[in-house]
Amino acid sequence: ENESTVSITVVGASGDLAKKKIFPALFALYYEGCLPEHFTIYGYARSKMTDAELRNMVSKTLTCRIDKRENCGEKMDEFLKRCFYHSGQYDSGENFAQLDKKLKEHEGGRVSNRLFYLSIPPNIFIDAVKCASTAASSGIGWTRVIVEKPFGRDSESSAALTKALKQYLNEDQIFRIDHYLGKELVENLSVLRFSNLIFEPLWSRQFIRSVQLIFSEDFGTEGRGGYFDHYGIIRDIMQNHLLQILALFAMETPVSLDAEDIRNEKVNLCELSTEVKVLRSMRPLRLEDVVIGQYKSHTKGGVTYPAYTDDNTVPKDSLTPTFAAAALFIDNARWDGVPFLMKAGKALHNKRAEIRVQFRHVPGNLYNRKFGTDLDQATNELVIRVQPDEAIYLKINNKVPGLGMRLDRSNLNLHYADRYSKEIPDAYERLLLDAIEGERRLFIRSDELDAAWSLFTPVLAELEEKKIIPEYYPYGSRGPVGAHYLAARYNVRWGDLGVEQSAA
Ligand code: NAP
Repeated sequence: ENESTVSITVVGASGDLAKKKIFPALFALYYEGCLPEHFTIYGYARSKMTDAELRNMVSKTLTCRIDKRENCGEKMDEFLKRCFYHSGQYDSGENFAQLDKKLKEHEGGRVSNRLFYLSIPPNIFIDAVKCASTAASSGIGWTRVIVEKPFGRDSESSAALTKALKQYLNEDQIFRIDHYLGKELVENLSVLRFSNLIFEPLWSRQFIRSVQLIFSEDFGTEGRGGYFDHYGIIRDIMQNHLLQILALFAMETPVSLDAEDIRNEKVNLCELSTEVKVLRSMRPLRLEDVVIGQYKSHTKGGVTYPAYTDDNTVPKDSLTPTFAAAALFIDNARWDGVPFLMKAGKALHNKRAEIRVQFRHVPGNLYNRKFGTDLDQATNELVIRVQPDEAIYLKINNKVPGLGMRLDRSNLNLHYADRYSKEIPDAYERLLLDAIEGERRLFIRSDELDAAWSLFTPVLAELEEKKIIPEYYPYGSRGPVGAHYLAARYNVRWGDLGVEQSAA
C-alpha cells in the first residue's frame, strides 16, 4: 500500500469551481493527513500557466481550520510543492499523453492510482473522458473520474451521457457527485434516525404529516445566468440535491448501519438500492403539483434589485423558473398520502437549506380542550438546518413558567456552533476523500440517476411545451404566493414562514 501513489488531475483547473472548492478541499485533506504519502496533483486546462503560476493562483484560496492554525504556512508550502500544471486541449489525446508522461515521472514506477476531476462545462465531458481514459489512465492501479451535475437535462440526454461515458469507463470508475450528500447534516440524517430510539418509530405516515425540503438563495444569477437559463431551478436544485435528501430521509432501514459496516461496500450497495427503491415508489411529478416563479425587479431602501431577465446573459423573454415549489408522493406503506413538499428559489429573502418534518396533531389534546384553540397549529416540528449555521431543533409545546397555565412553543436545540468547536469540513473534502478511498456510498449510481430523472422529465417537458408562464415575485421576497396555495391544497403550511426563534 505504501508503495502506491495517487495522482489527482483537476481538469478545468483554471476555473471557478477548481479555485473555490477543489484545491482548498485537497489542501484540507492534506492538512488533516488524509492524503496518501505519495500523491501528486495536476491542474489541466487550456489556459497557459506555469507550475509557479498555478501555485500562486491556488495559494490565494487555501485556508486552515480555525482550530488548527499552527504550521499553516508551512503546510501550505509543502502542499503547493506537490501541485503542477499541464496545459492542453480537452479533446487532444496527444495532450493527455503528455500529461500521462509527466504523471509517470512523479509516480516513479509505483502502483499508480489516478483520479480525474472534471471541473469543466458538460459539453466537453465526453471529449475529456475519452482522452483521459485512452491516453492517461493508469496501467496497474485504478482510474476514477469524478463528474458533477448537470447530468443531462432530462431522461433522454442523461441516458445519452451515461452511455457515452460507459464507452470509456465502467460504472465503478464513475463518481457522480451530488455535493449535498457530502454535507455534514445530510450525512447525519441516518445517524439521527437509526441510532436514536425516539425518531425511527415516528418516521412514517402515522405520525408525520408532511416533510418539507427547502432551499433558498438571497441572490440572483448576477451576470452568470447563461448556464442557469438552460436548466432552471427544478433541474439545478430539485431533481438532484433535494431529491437525494428526500431519498435518504425516506428510505427503509438498510440491512446494517454499524459504524464498521458503513464503510463496507456491500452494505453501501444495499443502502443505495434502498434509496433507489424510494425513488421508484414515487409518482412522477404532475403539473398541478408544481408552482414556478421568476424574480422581478424590486426597489427597497433606495436600492433597485434587478429582475432575472435584466441579467445580460439571459434572454429577455426567458420563462426559465428561478423558483419552484412541488408536492411529491411516495406510494409505499410507510409514506402513503404524506406530501413531500419541495421549495427552491433564487433571489429570496434568505439563504438556507433545511429539512422540516411536521408531525400530526396530538389526538384529543387535553390542553386544547381546556384552553381553547390558540394551540391548534402548534404541532411538533423537527428542523434540520443543513446550511448555514447548522442546527437540529425540535419545536415543542411548553408551559410558560409561572402560577398560571399558559403554553408556548419552544425549541429543543442542537446548535452546532455551540456544541462543537470544530469547523465543519466542506462537502467537497468528504467526497474527494471517499472517491480516493473508493467509498461509493455518497455518489449517484446510474440507475438512481435514471429514476430521479423519470420523476421530473414529464413535467419539465410539459412546462416547456405549454410555455407555462412563471409567477413573478419581487427580488428579496418570500417567493410567489402560489407556493402557499400548493401547500394549502394538501392541508399544510410551509414551516419556514413562522416567526423563527433565534437558534442560539
Ligand atoms: P468554468 O469556470 O466555466 O469552467 C472551468 C474551465 O473550463 C475554465 O476555466 C476553462 O478553462 C474551461 N472552459 C470553460 N468554458 C469552456 C468551453 N466552452 N470550452 C472548453 N473549455 C471551457 O466552470 P466552473 O464554474 O469551474 O464549474 C466546473 C463544472 O462544475 C461545470 O460543469 C459546472 O456545471 C459544474 N459545477 C460548478 C459549480 C460552481 O460552484 N461553480 C457548482 C456545481 C457544479 P480553459 O479555458 O483554461 O481551458
